[in-house]
Amino acid sequence: MARSEPWLPLFKKIDALVTAKGRVPCRTVYDPTRRVASVSMGDRSIDLMICPRGRYGDQPFFKRTASLVVCVAGSSLTPGDGEKIAAYLAAMERHDAALSAALSRLASSPSQPETGQVQPLIQDLSLRDGDKVKGKLCLLSLTMRCNQRCLFCPVFRDAPELGKERILKELSDYCARNSAHLPVTGVLITGGEPTLSPALGAAVRFMEKKGVGYCSLLSNAVRFADRDFVKAVFDAGVRRLFLSFHSHREETYDLLTGTTGLYPKAVEGLTLCLSMPFFEVTCNVVLTKHNYKDIPAMASFIAGLRKRSNGPKTLNMCVSAMNQNPRWLELSIEHSKAAPFLRRTCREGALPFTAFMGDCAMPVCVGGLYRAAPSIVPSGRVDTPTWRALRGWDPSKTPVPEDCLRVKDASCKKCRFDPVCGGLMSLYARRYGTSELRPVK
Ligand code: SF4
Repeated sequence: MARSEPWLPLFKKIDALVTAKGRVPCRTVYDPTRRVASVSMGDRSIDLMICPRGRYGDQPFFKRTASLVVCVAGSSLTPGDGEKIAAYLAAMERHDAALSAALSRLASSPSQPETGQVQPLIQDLSLRDGDKVKGKLCLLSLTMRCNQRCLFCPVFRDAPELGKERILKELSDYCARNSAHLPVTGVLITGGEPTLSPALGAAVRFMEKKGVGYCSLLSNAVRFADRDFVKAVFDAGVRRLFLSFHSHREETYDLLTGTTGLYPKAVEGLTLCLSMPFFEVTCNVVLTKHNYKDIPAMASFIAGLRKRSNGPKTLNMCVSAMNQNPRWLELSIEHSKAAPFLRRTCREGALPFTAFMGDCAMPVCVGGLYRAAPSIVPSGRVDTPTWRALRGWDPSKTPVPEDCLRVKDASCKKCRFDPVCGGLMSLYARRYGTSELRPVK
């Protein structure tokens, strides 16, 4: 064993623990340049990005232990993977402090450059309708940097970023591996704030050349306050924008984004985007207790920014629930309390809703939302391990299995949306239970 690779014996011990417990051979190959552990368990291989917690941020992304942060990187998960990941993390926790200490030395090793080590560039998700894989969704995080500090943001903002060459190489490998899926693969360019990445234009042009199905750019719109920048993004080939705008009231906007002075830029950015012929602009609102009552007024406000007839073909709005984050308990709001305001937005008709296909979707059965806005019903769900709570479930007595990030009720099996619905976020279900869910015949 090389003295410069102190993590090797620790991963061997973890492998031995998992192998003994699960009776399937486990083998980890750790790539220190990407900080990614390729874990083979039986016939499956899962990539996990593993970083020391103190050094690389304290935001929960996938999993935090006392000393490490872990997220799935570059693997598409299958339903059985949740169990495997949980077994691996349980074994890893036995060597938590030692592994963190070993990996901490990486950054100070002269052979390991500081940049390009921990950015989770690609998360490869499958979109399902029941058992049928309908397509793929690739989350491409071009940078983890951001010009905002949203209270509910779960990403590591301080992760060093990859260089342009490395990004294009990994994208090229991804496209080669997924060539069979390319026409039905959607890419959501995310971050951090992807408009801060110098690789944005090159990455979009590359994906266009490779025939990626559709490519959406998620942004807070602040950089779009620069007309030349909007034009450059359009000219690079971006046709779908997914713009986060969490309040039309400046005070609430500042509170939720953790910034001051950016609200006028975001409004100007939105206005400029709505004057360009994008194919689709979706304004995304993350529901919190500070903004849910404002959704109807926010829809009118956004619609009012569209002044030119040659703007986007489609302008719509989507709402997402919060993912787990350190301030979740303080910010959360029950779906059933938000639903009347969403129904009112539908009735008033300033902006139509579109479905949120990611993992923070709000179940459309709550408050009869599916009736108020059929367009809010997703056509597929991302493949996240889900647990079904039994009737009368008491979260204080029966915990949600740790590997299950989503929770449904046993009665969801009777619901017509079951194949495309991701249910509730685990923490949400633990806090508020599942009684809001109403299976739809
Ligand atoms: S599957 Fe369950 S959570 Fe989803 S819409 Fe139906 S009842 Fe609601």
